[in-house]
Amino acid sequence: MAQQDVSVAVRHELEAERADLAARLDELEVSSDDALAYDDNFADSGQVAAEQGENHALASTIRDQLADIERALARLDEGNYGRCEQCGNPINPARLEAVPSARFCIEHA
Ligand SMILES: [Zn+2]
Repeated sequence: MAQQDVSVAVRHELEAERADLAARLDELEVSSDDALAYDDNFADSGQVAAEQGENHALASTIRDQLADIERALARLDEGNYGRCEQCGNPINPARLEAVPSARFCIEHA
């Protein structure tokens, strides 16, 4: 029963983080649309391109994090959450608390 409570709490945390990341991704996609509009009107496209590059890099980082969270949620469903994907050993709870979507133990991170 206690184990069940933990996974419910983790699921809530992962879902909250997923919503947060999805919102940031939406914001980035909106701001890169703005940058495109800016590009049409102003000559200084070098700076716009640089900003777009940063946004794309950030967006792809966020997409990776979202994928990790989706995976962690799937592993919760399977009952494998909190185990290292490499060795199958339990991941240190302190590590999971810091990074709820962690897929590997410290040794295999
Ligand atoms: Zn491991």
